[in-house]
Amino acid sequence: MSTTKKNFIDVFPVAEHIDKTRAVFCNRDIRLDNINSVGFDMDYTLALYKQEALDALSVELTLERLIKHRNYPAEIASIKPEPEFAIRGLVIDKKLGNIIKLDSHRHVGKGYHGFKELTRNQRFDYRNVTIRLNTDERFALVDTLFALPEAFLYAALVDYLEEHPELDISFLQLYDDIRFAIDMAHRDGSIKVRIMADVEKYIIADPELAIVLHKIRSAQKKIFLMTNSYSAYTEKVMSFLFDGVLPDYPSWRNYFDVIITGAHKPGFFTKNKAFVEVNAEEEVLDENVTRFERGKIYQGGNVLDFEKFTGDKGESVCYIGDHIYGDIVRSKKTSAWRTVMIVQEMEAELNLAGELREELVRVQEFERELLRVNSELAFDKSLTESHRIRTDEEEIEHKAGRDRLKRHRKKLMIKLEDAENLFESKFNHYWGLIFKLGNENTLFGAQVEDYACLYTGRVSNFLYYSPNHYFRSPRQLMPHERF
Ligand code: IMP
Ligand code: MG
Repeated sequence: MSTTKKNFIDVFPVAEHIDKTRAVFCNRDIRLDNINSVGFDMDYTLALYKQEALDALSVELTLERLIKHRNYPAEIASIKPEPEFAIRGLVIDKKLGNIIKLDSHRHVGKGYHGFKELTRNQRFDYRNVTIRLNTDERFALVDTLFALPEAFLYAALVDYLEEHPELDISFLQLYDDIRFAIDMAHRDGSIKVRIMADVEKYIIADPELAIVLHKIRSAQKKIFLMTNSYSAYTEKVMSFLFDGVLPDYPSWRNYFDVIITGAHKPGFFTKNKAFVEVNAEEEVLDENVTRFERGKIYQGGNVLDFEKFTGDKGESVCYIGDHIYGDIVRSKKTSAWRTVMIVQEMEAELNLAGELREELVRVQEFERELLRVNSELAFDKSLTESHRIRTDEEEIEHKAGRDRLKRHRKKLMIKLEDAENLFESKFNHYWGLIFKLGNENTLFGAQVEDYACLYTGRVSNFLYYSPNHYFRSPRQLMPHERF
């Protein structure tokens, strides 16, 4: 990065000079000068969590509740988290007790039963299964970073149940029990109490956030916060992130024109709940809200009232969040808001991709060679079928050549799979990359591409762009145009 801290606010380097790990990527053109109002989600958007610490806390409190409220044996309390096991976009198959990674065509490319990797045949069995994510009870999507411990615990307890058939708990029941327990740990406040007691242990302080918000404000845009967290927790987290960072903004509330907590997204976009005013202790102060005032905290609400009270609607609003369904799909589909998705995992992945360029080139060379051999074999087959080979000698020679090619192809496929596995395992030992499965996009990658106008690793990456930047998506090429 060519800028220094001193001139952050005044210098906007052109996008080409931005380090890839800090870049903002564009799926659909968006001119920020047409945006009047910029909204932020809080958890995993403004507040990035230290994943290992939060995973450990969630696992501990979920196990506690499984033992206490669902009668699981006390010895499961000794299960220790395995931070690498689980990435966003995985799907839990509650019927078979598997966790699977899908590409954008819903083909299963990888999977585990407990911590045992699925065999090729087990994966192939899914070819006859239609994987419907929103309507089929059988499947559950790991769609937020809050849910990673849930997936890990599912695998750990599938293994445990396999060793203890006497417990007679089905894989379906296991999923429901874990969901109940982790949901309870969120709702009864126990996760939040522990975070609030030691915010620094769980949340990443990013001083550049305050500068980004200041830059947006300076460009005469309105800023709002809209989080599903309630006001007491919001107050604590936002104070930690913003209070006293810039002299002109003593309190985090000074940055925002509207503050909405307990927003119940995605219901905020589809239902008709009224806004109420609350204080930082979550007490209701006014049940009859008809307009917004700066510095006040609101709770609940719905998108129609929001647009009525602020006068900003549709494409003049841009919302930045991390949850593909709650924050991105709904806001885009129901309200035509422009959307930015924060994908915290990207920074580490992009860093690694830079380091592993040679490994990737090797994979691509194997892919090209395989393509060549396949087309040679296909050509060869058509020669045979057209009966251009007539004599026995020709036939023998031709067969030997074809067998040689087939052996070469077999070796190549193994080499390609090994090279792919080696490359991907450097990202995540169990699952590989979050956006890629072989040379296809993952289901998660496809969702980000379909629904988010922009995506980036963290909010403070906007520091390197003007608040009126015109983001243009690269010209999309269809396969025939790439030829
Ligand atoms: P947001 O991302 O700022 O909208 O806030 C997400 C909120 O959802 C946080 O307060 C989380 O604690 C909460 N949350 C995450 N997972 C669960 C769950 O499984 N049950 C209930 N609340 C959850
Ligand atoms: Mg969030």
